[in-house]
Amino acid sequence: MDAEHASATRRPVVVPLGATVTASGATALPATGAPAPARPGSTGGTSGATALPASGAPREGGLLDRFGRTATDLRVSVVDKCNLRCTYCMPADGMPWLPQSQLMSTDEIRRIVRVAVQSLGAEELRLTGGEPLVRKDLEFIIAGIRADNPDLPISMTTNAVGLDRRAQALKDAGLTRLNVSLDTLHPETFAELTRRPHLDKVLAGLQAARAAGLGPIKINAVLLRGINDTEVVPLVDWAVSNGFEMRFIEDMPLDGDRSWSATNVIPARDIRAAIEEAFDLAPDPRGRGAAPAERWEVRRRGETAVAGHVGIISSVTEPFCAACTRTRVTADGKVRSCLFSHEETDLLAALRDGSDDEGIAQIWREAMWAKPRAHGSDRVGLERADFVQPARTMSAIGG
Ligand code: SAM
Ligand code: SF4
Repeated sequence: MDAEHASATRRPVVVPLGATVTASGATALPATGAPAPARPGSTGGTSGATALPASGAPREGGLLDRFGRTATDLRVSVVDKCNLRCTYCMPADGMPWLPQSQLMSTDEIRRIVRVAVQSLGAEELRLTGGEPLVRKDLEFIIAGIRADNPDLPISMTTNAVGLDRRAQALKDAGLTRLNVSLDTLHPETFAELTRRPHLDKVLAGLQAARAAGLGPIKINAVLLRGINDTEVVPLVDWAVSNGFEMRFIEDMPLDGDRSWSATNVIPARDIRAAIEEAFDLAPDPRGRGAAPAERWEVRRRGETAVAGHVGIISSVTEPFCAACTRTRVTADGKVRSCLFSHEETDLLAALRDGSDDEGIAQIWREAMWAKPRAHGSDRVGLERADFVQPARTMSAIGG
């Protein structure tokens, strides 16, 4: 195990409220991120809930935690490497990549998903990375998962570079739909933001994905102050015109450069206001459920018909931890109960040591029982200074 990944469980350094980044890479969030109250109809709620003891994990059934939430939304990272270097995610030189021997194999990913679905009640799967398309066996991974789980919705988050050549094969293997990351429509801004000149490849990938029927397609954009924050309206206009759902994600302190700063986050309320300069927004009557994005119907000015939808993922300024239903597995087979966790539980070691499916399921139940209340801590929301950036960054966790 390399130093970056070996340090994933090291003791965090606490930094004072309002700090941005310290030499250790620790980062404090702004004081606006208390856990949101549970929404009506959400799977669970932490608001006012008292944590149950850490040792009380159930011995059967699904992935419950001490705050009454149940994880049914599985995110599996298939690789930590990537062919882009988005500034909000990775350093220019990349990361210390996992050695091949530590990556889950095609069959190991298939087995872990089978346990999650068939023993633990996972209802949907999202494949992510790093960049999932970097894996040459991605079609085999998906085909294996599909063979085991004929009705499972399988989506993938991708930057779409190289997707034009693989979209149809991925669809044929059993992929249901896609989230594609695209932060700008300008080639120069794309090259600056991703440090690669590949906007044309992303657009070609999107076209191929649509032709292959991998819809509905959602477009993920992270807005960065002074870089692409003037593109809110053009992105919504372009997405709506092309039948995509535009989703804006607040920049989170999970970057490889450790240069995140709260003052640079474009808050959800400003994103909504920017969209409303050109479009009418109304809350999506389908509601949000446990989804991370708050969804809105978009109407062009003066028109009554809904032109499309946008989602805003406000993890920093309006967090939705109280209704979180996610469980994550990293590319080296570690369960992370929260994006911001400082703890991981090694499923892959158990699998390679010969544990049966029930043994793996129980390790997973215990890991999820200990899921922190919000932003990686039971105390965050009450004491904001508690927040510490985890050692693993977004691309190494799987966003
Ligand atoms: N490479 C694929 C992609 O970019 O779609 C999948 C992995 S990427 C880590 C998953 C998502 O995380 C992308 O939508 C990306 O925009 C988002 N992301 C990465 N770093 C982020 C950060 N610091 N804050 C918010 N979102 C981030
Ligand atoms: Fe790669 Fe996705 Fe991170 Fe960009 S956001 S560097 S595409 S893993």
